[in-house]
Amino acid sequence: MARYIGAVCKICRREGEKLFLKADRCLSDKCSFNRRSYPPGQHGEGQARRKLSEYGLQLREKQKCRRIYGLLETQFRRYFEMAERKKGITGENLLQLLETRLDNVVYRLRLAGSRREARQLVRHGFFRVNDRKVNIPSYQVKPGDVITLKENANKSPLIKGILEANDGKNIPEWLELDTNNWTARVVSIPTREQIDVPVQEHLIVELYSR
Ligand code: SF4
Repeated sequence: MARYIGAVCKICRREGEKLFLKADRCLSDKCSFNRRSYPPGQHGEGQARRKLSEYGLQLREKQKCRRIYGLLETQFRRYFEMAERKKGITGENLLQLLETRLDNVVYRLRLAGSRREARQLVRHGFFRVNDRKVNIPSYQVKPGDVITLKENANKSPLIKGILEANDGKNIPEWLELDTNNWTARVVSIPTREQIDVPVQEHLIVELYSR
């Protein structure tokens, strides 16, 4: 599957806010956005952010959301089409579909420092869903699903470090994590209020409805 391989921090600078795409670095002094919050590129510095048209605002919001979840345009568009077909509010459906991807769930459980890292760990087969190995980051979890680590996962220094730093706190209400045996359960589909992303999804719906 194709993916964005450019400099990740440029995405935050382009969007004009911290999107927390890089684990611990985002919270440290090394965060590029803290040092250079102007847009990337030769003429970025000194350039005031332009006032955007209605279309520009909608486009930026879609790009921001797509980049937070680390998706390419075609993948993101497919989620939008799925959201449209579902009953309910399209924007909320979209965010729910994105949140219930396995890579995002691993990130929300704090079993990875970023969605990008979560995707890698899923691809490397570190997780099981309902006792079956799942190495597809886009796998959609549903209420009742049980997520576990593969046997001997903590032989990996990376996983060992992640588990040692995870106290089971700050997990969203729609997920449950038992840190004694590293078993997680999907309690419910998240409500909009439980989805902590700085996105105005109605702008994305407006963009794709043009
Ligand atoms: Fe964005 Fe994190 Fe890079 Fe800072 S360190 S610019 S928050 S990805």
